[in-house]
Amino acid sequence: MPTSKYNFKLSPDVTIQVEADNQADAFKQYAAAHEIFGQHGTCRGCGADAFPRVRVVGDHSYSEMFCSNPECGRVIAFGQKKKPSGALYPKRKDKDGKWLEHGGWVRWAGKPRDDEGDDVDDDDDEVVRHRRGR
Ligand SMILES: [Zn+2]
Repeated sequence: MPTSKYNFKLSPDVTIQVEADNQADAFKQYAAAHEIFGQHGTCRGCGADAFPRVRVVGDHSYSEMFCSNPECGRVIAFGQKKKPSGALYPKRKDKDGKWLEHGGWVRWAGKPRDDEGDDVDDDDDEVVRHRRGR
């Protein structure tokens, strides 16, 4: 079967091109891309536009979408899968496997004290700023 190319528009900002031998494979790539690039242009906490950002901390980089509304300050973090290497997934659960509020849009980056012992204030009414983020 010949390889076909498909263009999928995931959001007003993002269009991807996929090459696949069959529709099932094309759909798989479309779904994987949509989960990351198509669904997070809007903050699920307040509905404002959201934008991509990569935070670099030491040897690690963290991909996330952040809410443009400073009163809200939510982010959704993306983790990296081992397989396929480099693939991202939205973090919708906390470390204990509990579902996060607003589909993973939280007021801190989901890593309270990993490498630099951030003093994260998890009081929900307060906007927690990332000391390293902006
Ligand atoms: Zn928001």
